[in-house]
Amino acid sequence: MVIEGGCRCGGVRFQLEVEAMPPVYCCHCLNCQTWSGSAFTEQALIPESQITVIAGEPELYVNITASGAESVQRLCGTCHTRLWSTNPARAGVALVRAGSLDASAELAPRAHIWTKRMQPWLSIDDNIPSWPENAPPADFIAALLKG
Ligand SMILES: [Zn+2]
Ligand SMILES: [Zn+2]
Repeated sequence: MVIEGGCRCGGVRFQLEVEAMPPVYCCHCLNCQTWSGSAFTEQALIPESQITVIAGEPELYVNITASGAESVQRLCGTCHTRLWSTNPARAGVALVRAGSLDASAELAPRAHIWTKRMQPWLSIDDNIPSWPENAPPADFIAALLKG
């Protein structure tokens, strides 16, 4: 199936070719809070090859992560909504800002990371795996694939 997304102003639109709604996680780290101007970020994992831009042209912003990797952010040059990012440390995988997807209400997070920075008024269902900082990669992937 095809799901679509886009930025706040509508200048950039994209579509994802997926077999099911993609797995989503939330990050509560301080960088995510600051960068989103909100309480946490919500990201969908998807193979980069399954993303097609259908309107506009995202601009690139390269951010050096704490581990020294170059995270390449795609954003709308007009309204500056961040849309998705890739990172050579995990080639071929894109992190799509889940709130930019038209069907974002159908996505439920399967994991939470950096909960030690989580806003005190938030609470997470005990059934959803969470980690105080970054999750061990194998555990994290297992949680996301579980559905
Ligand atoms: Zn825009
Ligand atoms: Zn984060």
